[in-house]
Amino acid sequence: MEDSLKQHSHEKAELLGTVIAVQANFYQVRLDSQATLLCTRPTRLKKIGQKVLVGDRVRVKSTEFERGAIAEVLPRKTELLRPPIANAEQIFLVFALEEPTLDPVQLSRFLVKAESTNLNLCLGLNKIDLITYKKREWWGEKINNWGYNPIFFSVIHHQGLEQLIEHLRGKITIIAGPSGVGKSSLISTLIPEVNLRIGEVSGKLLKGRHTTRHVELYQLPDGGFIADSPGFNQPDLDISPESLATYFPEAKLKLSENICRFSDCLHRDEPECLVRGNWERYEYYLKFLDEAIANEQKLAKMPDEESNLKYKVKEAGKRYVEPKLETKKYRRISRRSKHQKLHTMYENQSLNNIEDEDGLREDFS
Ligand code: GDP
Ligand code: ZN
Repeated sequence: MEDSLKQHSHEKAELLGTVIAVQANFYQVRLDSQATLLCTRPTRLKKIGQKVLVGDRVRVKSTEFERGAIAEVLPRKTELLRPPIANAEQIFLVFALEEPTLDPVQLSRFLVKAESTNLNLCLGLNKIDLITYKKREWWGEKINNWGYNPIFFSVIHHQGLEQLIEHLRGKITIIAGPSGVGKSSLISTLIPEVNLRIGEVSGKLLKGRHTTRHVELYQLPDGGFIADSPGFNQPDLDISPESLATYFPEAKLKLSENICRFSDCLHRDEPECLVRGNWERYEYYLKFLDEAIANEQKLAKMPDEESNLKYKVKEAGKRYVEPKLETKKYRRISRRSKHQKLHTMYENQSLNNIEDEDGLREDFS
């Protein structure tokens, strides 16, 4: 197999790029040379269990005009399964100060969820035009006490955007936050062509946009990508109760200086607990702890797909959720629906031999 690959390599250009969208068995790859290819994943990669995620750096073989095949997936720096994205370096959490009014509990819920990914976290507070400078300072001080240093900005008044652009440059950033805070406005301000691209290139892809699994990358003019993922915008606290405290910087700081008497302390009413106490978000911690415990109990009882997730501990104790192997029954359903989606999306494409996900003819290796 490798030999035939080498034989081909001098005939067809081998290129590096980033996967910017995935649907069914097709991958849009933005090459470093700025062209975009629609690629397949050859059976050879499937056989070795090599998945391809949005954000993956790939080596591609161009087969014909705007078409290609993924030859190799380069090692990932980071990997998230919900939303499914590789090589994201940071989460940019966006909230509005007004319209809708900033709610500290909801903000904390998103912060905790984002912290649980172990990616870097940056908080942006939009719509500064709707509050007084005094109120802005009040929020700044409050959130500083939580351990964050937010960027204040206004999309529609173009205020504070320079600092924000600097923060996003050259990286893959997941943008998250509740609806109505200005995420879409921000993306289309940073990347004016984005609407154009949505309308033209990925019109068909957009049909799948509202499924939580769908992620797409938008390239920033100064380099880097933004991932707009609906999967992140309604956070469930599917977090282990034992790790919850470490997702509050205030509590994490306490735990880095000293330890509680019990190593499995949940910081409620245990003796000699050093996390419990007089800090502003401690009541949020208790509230989220109840949710995390309830969620864990619910998952333990569920026999279906949702509970078919196991935790996998990777290096540095980072926790990832990984799907267990699908049952045959579930697999059949999922393949059929993918098959339908694929036809809707690519009805205008002239790709031959689309049988089903695994029945694609391998032309490229
Ligand atoms: P999304 O749901 O997070 O994508 O939010 P949208 O981008 O759709 O924005 C929601 C509303 O907020 C729209 O009516 C925007 O015009 C408005 N908006 C966005 N940025 C600002 C801002 O800086 N100031 C004010 N006052 N409104 C804004
Ligand atoms: Zn404790």
